Amino acid sequence: MYATSLHCFYCGTDFPLTHRGSCTNCATVGEESALSETLGVQYDLAAIKRQLDRDELVRRAAGLWRYRELLPVVDPAFRIELGAGGTRLAPLARIPEAMAGNRLFMKVEGSNPSGSFKDRPIGVAASVALEQGARGLACLTSGNIGSAMAAIAAKAGVSSLVLLLGAAGLADQGAAVNVEKYVQISTYGAEVVTPVGGLGQLYALADRIEAEMGWSFMHNVQAYQTDGDKTTAFEICEQLGWKAPAAVFVPTGTGTNLFGLWQGFVLFKELGFIDALPRMFAVQPLGAASLVAAWEAHQAIPAVLQQTEANLAPPISHRVSGYHAYKAIQESGGGAVAVADREMLAALKDLASYEGIYAETASAAALAGIRRAMALGFLREEETRQTGVVGILTSHGLKNSLALSQVFTPPPRVEGTWEALRNYLESRRVKL
Ligand SMILES: [Zn+2]
Repeated sequence: MYATSLHCFYCGTDFPLTHRGSCTNCATVGEESALSETLGVQYDLAAIKRQLDRDELVRRAAGLWRYRELLPVVDPAFRIELGAGGTRLAPLARIPEAMAGNRLFMKVEGSNPSGSFKDRPIGVAASVALEQGARGLACLTSGNIGSAMAAIAAKAGVSSLVLLLGAAGLADQGAAVNVEKYVQISTYGAEVVTPVGGLGQLYALADRIEAEMGWSFMHNVQAYQTDGDKTTAFEICEQLGWKAPAAVFVPTGTGTNLFGLWQGFVLFKELGFIDALPRMFAVQPLGAASLVAAWEAHQAIPAVLQQTEANLAPPISHRVSGYHAYKAIQESGGGAVAVADREMLAALKDLASYEGIYAETASAAALAGIRRAMALGFLREEETRQTGVVGILTSHGLKNSLALSQVFTPPPRVEGTWEALRNYLESRRVKL
């Protein structure tokens, strides 16, 4: 076991590994705040260095547990294996920016077992929770955390409860629940309810569920989720030949994934596995961009938005992003950009039609964000054309096809004869 403690990156307090919830100095229970996710897992780096090197890593199978010394699960019996991680780093070849000589890569996280990157953070956090004695698993989610957790619970043979909201973090705005995600979660066997009440009330309910049932609520093991997110950074470095890219663009809600990735790059550099660190960029939907606002105002603790505006990226529509995300972009010399629905849709269609990659709209924000940053001059030419830029495609397109059914109209009915079909294709300017 190389994990030593949970450390608050804001106030510096250390907690034992069994601590639950947020830093007790920085966050108020039940309150939405940029300081509710400030904890990270600390490791005995000297001991890891004696045990692990790049050659040893290369010999191992792909996936989360390839990095087991750098993860907090002790007993191998609790390393629940669904095949998470080991995803493709796809070089873009046909989109216009690639044709113009830019070196762009997409980390295709939609190919994780439940269809999103959440199989990494939840894979680790749920494993830790069960190792620490949880009798069941529960979470509050707009869908992807719920699917990842319900799958893990099924594999581990424990019960699970999903409080399903229409948009992540928007408990009281009445957004409709994503039907595809509901169906997926239910099929894994979880109990699913849509809770009524404000987020503060629901956090209090979560604590009560833990106390009454002995189950683990996923946001109370947030530090371990961040730890699972590190593995994405490890894989990117290995896939680029033990190098970090110049910049990484992450679709960002609260910022846990962004911060986890940053911690992963930092850890690999501290272990001597890479020489340089990337710049971290957050991409948020317009109307739910508290981190972008904070970044532009040089305000390390993002303010809570009164209201978010409806958009096509519910998984990253939160009222507030975390200090940890701000810290990652500041320390790395990165930044934050907001993108509109039409930019995400254009990126989604381009990824699919030029590169054969079908991503959820919130994921396509990664490419939309790269485009926005290039247009704003945030990226230097040697970064985009030589070292390379990576976007994190967080989830699979099948996660929200129904939501796009209003954007993509139903296919036209065409008479089943060659003449009628040819006329139709010619009207669409398809080369015959
Ligand atoms: Zn603290």
